[in-house]
Amino acid sequence: MAATLPPGRTSQTSSRAPAGHAQLHVRWDRVCVFFALFVVLAIVMSHTAVRAIRDDPQTPAATPATTPAATPAPIQAVEDPAKTQHPCPAPAKGVVRNAPAVRDRAGAPSRTVALTFDDGPGPATPQVLDVLQRAGVPATFFVVGESAVANPEMLRRIIADGHALGDHSWSHDIPRAAAGWNRKKLTGEIKRTHRAIIDATGLQPCLFRPPGGIVKGAESVTRAARLSMILWSVDTRDWAASSEGGWRFANLIRKRAALGLTQEHPVILLHDGGGNRAATVLALPEIINDYRAQGYRFVTLNQPT
Ligand SMILES: [Zn+2]
Repeated sequence: MAATLPPGRTSQTSSRAPAGHAQLHVRWDRVCVFFALFVVLAIVMSHTAVRAIRDDPQTPAATPATTPAATPAPIQAVEDPAKTQHPCPAPAKGVVRNAPAVRDRAGAPSRTVALTFDDGPGPATPQVLDVLQRAGVPATFFVVGESAVANPEMLRRIIADGHALGDHSWSHDIPRAAAGWNRKKLTGEIKRTHRAIIDATGLQPCLFRPPGGIVKGAESVTRAARLSMILWSVDTRDWAASSEGGWRFANLIRKRAALGLTQEHPVILLHDGGGNRAATVLALPEIINDYRAQGYRFVTLNQPT
């Protein structure tokens, strides 16, 4: 269109240059012819432009064409919701052996301690929860799937009391350390335990602690399941107390737990299931007092690092 206009104008301008009445009549005729041609050209060009706009998918005129293009998005989301809407954050890189670092109100880093309880839920779990509740301390519970399905109400209380839940396999079978985990078996154990935890609490666990602390063969499985692998930095060996429940053994557990007082962010391994946990329940208030007296903050392992 822009290329057509100037020639028309140029001929008009040049026809007016020499003035005279007789020439003016002849030139008006010519002007009329040019004007008619210009009108025809303008109509043709405007039709072409309208067609171009309709065919251009970027213009608002093409709105109906964008509707079918948008349909693949929801289909894709339905096909693989785990990739786009997984509730767990990206798993920690490597094995976690330290509690998350947090800052106090002034922005200074605090020493933190994570109490962790394995092999439950069991008969001692309500007693452990009572001690934690009285002290106002959060902890992390790594539950065994077989016990979880038998005690779903315990899982609900763990969550209601403000603690974190992790997966500790379905059967608690421990492989030989040299051989490590059979990946297919471990994947099945994790899936089954997740189902039990989700059925009881509606929450997806994001943490895994391998029974026996065996890491070999578990890394790729936990990465695929988007789980952070959690071990510990202090082993109280309270699991060895199955036939001893008195103060003598409770004091031993407390002493071992106190080894973490030399660390900035210890993770303490305790047990609320798998045997007689009377000594653990006795030792727990003392362990909490020891760390509190040294200014540690109690954290769960679900907290961001
Ligand atoms: Zn265990």
